[in-house]
Amino acid sequence: MRTGKEYLNSLDDGREIYIEGKRVENVVTHQAFSGVTQSVANLYDKYIEQKDEMTFTSPDSGESVPVSHMVPRSKEELIHRRKGLSISADNTFGHLGRSPDHVASFIAGFASDPDFFAESDPKFGENITRFHKKIREENSYLSYVIIPPQIDRTKTAQELADSHLAAGIYKERDDGLVIRGAQMLGTASTIADYIFLTCMTPLKPGDEAYAVSLVVPVNAKGVKLYPRRCYAMGQPSVFDYPLSTRFDETDSLVIFNDVFVPWEDVFVYRDIKKVREQFFRTPAHILGNNQAQIRLVTKSKFLLGLAKKLTETNGIDKLPPVMGQLGELASLVSIVEGMLLASEATAITNPKGVVIPNPRFLYGVMGLQAELYPRMINIIRELAGGGPLQVPSSVFELQNEETAADMNHYIRSANGTSAKDKIKLFKVIWELTGSEFAGRHQQYEMFYAGAPFVARNYSFMNYGFEEALELVDQCLEGFDVSS
Ligand SMILES: Cc1cc2nc3c(=O)[nH]c(=O)nc-3n(C[C@H](O)[C@H](O)[C@H](O)COP(=O)(O)OP(=O)(O)OC[C@H]3O[C@@H](n4cnc5c(N)ncnc54)[C@H](O)[C@@H]3O)c2cc1C
Repeated sequence: MRTGKEYLNSLDDGREIYIEGKRVENVVTHQAFSGVTQSVANLYDKYIEQKDEMTFTSPDSGESVPVSHMVPRSKEELIHRRKGLSISADNTFGHLGRSPDHVASFIAGFASDPDFFAESDPKFGENITRFHKKIREENSYLSYVIIPPQIDRTKTAQELADSHLAAGIYKERDDGLVIRGAQMLGTASTIADYIFLTCMTPLKPGDEAYAVSLVVPVNAKGVKLYPRRCYAMGQPSVFDYPLSTRFDETDSLVIFNDVFVPWEDVFVYRDIKKVREQFFRTPAHILGNNQAQIRLVTKSKFLLGLAKKLTETNGIDKLPPVMGQLGELASLVSIVEGMLLASEATAITNPKGVVIPNPRFLYGVMGLQAELYPRMINIIRELAGGGPLQVPSSVFELQNEETAADMNHYIRSANGTSAKDKIKLFKVIWELTGSEFAGRHQQYEMFYAGAPFVARNYSFMNYGFEEALELVDQCLEGFDVSS
């Protein structure tokens, strides 16, 4: 299996990334990415260290490969997958939304149904099967850009001022396609091996050029990445910014500047219906978002742990109103975990024999995520008060003898936690509740699977209202004008 070192070595491949007007020479050594690439490298090593829990046996090579590439065919496999993905999420306390496990889960879902892709042309079915096997055996890291850039959301790609603003086919060649345009939002594209490009927002007749599904290596000629401000940059130390220096996966506008894509890397071609159905007629969206929920359980538990620790540190943990707040937070975290386990306990087998988490509970909790996450963060903010701002400006106050004496004298805790440990705790809390990194994470949890109105729509579409309606019918039938 690929080691962390091999992953890091592979990144010096000429990829075109621009930050502050300059091209990044090597992501591994650049301050914006050195911490997060090391975190991903640690994950690659972890797959090897905890092979029994985090991998399964490849049906082709017989080698151990991470569970994210699995197409679960029994409840036991689904549970094994969840446990492996959970260990993986623990590695970054749930902070890498687009870790290597995420898009791999989508591709596994696609590959479970090559017939879907083959309906247009057998070669597309073969392409998805071959690509899935390739990334599974090589344990590649995929990111995706599946949303057109924000320009005018009342228009589809063909209606924009320039027909190549949103990414789509610019030219066709005998050996493949040439892609031109931009797509959002490439989380982790800067540090991945491939970008999966497609369009998830609804298209209409005339938009065929944008109705594609394909993969390109991040270093393919013409792929340009423009990340937003990277939060690891300019930070004085890991001590001061313990999360953003290690777990900022970055989000990029991805530009395809006439990028050539050979036919073998194309899965959907000029098909408006299929480009959307690929997510829902195959179990891709379910497996991908199930991975996202497994990660969210880890992150939610981490938040709960932070809240509990901070209340103990400040001696407020036994006050009844605080116990109530911790209880509310525990309830919110339990909802996320409970829905994950409910979706697994009531898993269903799809017509292709894939055992998938029950969409009712998966999408049920996703529909609430835009409210649950900010509510969790707000409880911690309320419990933390000014504590996260009562910390010294940097680690240097603990290194200078004179200032360290003040820190050790005045920064104390109800439970005897040292000044250093209290400062560490509150720096983590600030990173997750008040920093720029925190703001981005709130935006991420609210939007990563679509805008909140879209997530609620998934819940509407997948609940299955029959039982609810039957109860109402029974009730209504139980009385009448003559009752
Ligand atoms: C941190 C972060 C990371 C992300 N990572 C990725 C990634 O890795 N890959 C990827 O492909 N995408 C990613 N996304 C993009 C994500 O998929 C989009 O944010 C999401 O699909 C919503 O699209 P949008 O942001 O353009 O919002 P819009 O669609 O523009 O919606 C914004 C708001 O406008 C209103 N609105 C828009 N359209 C309608 C409508 N039809 N009806 C009613 N109201 C409407 C709603 O109030 C909505 O909340 C990421 C987003 C964030 C914030």
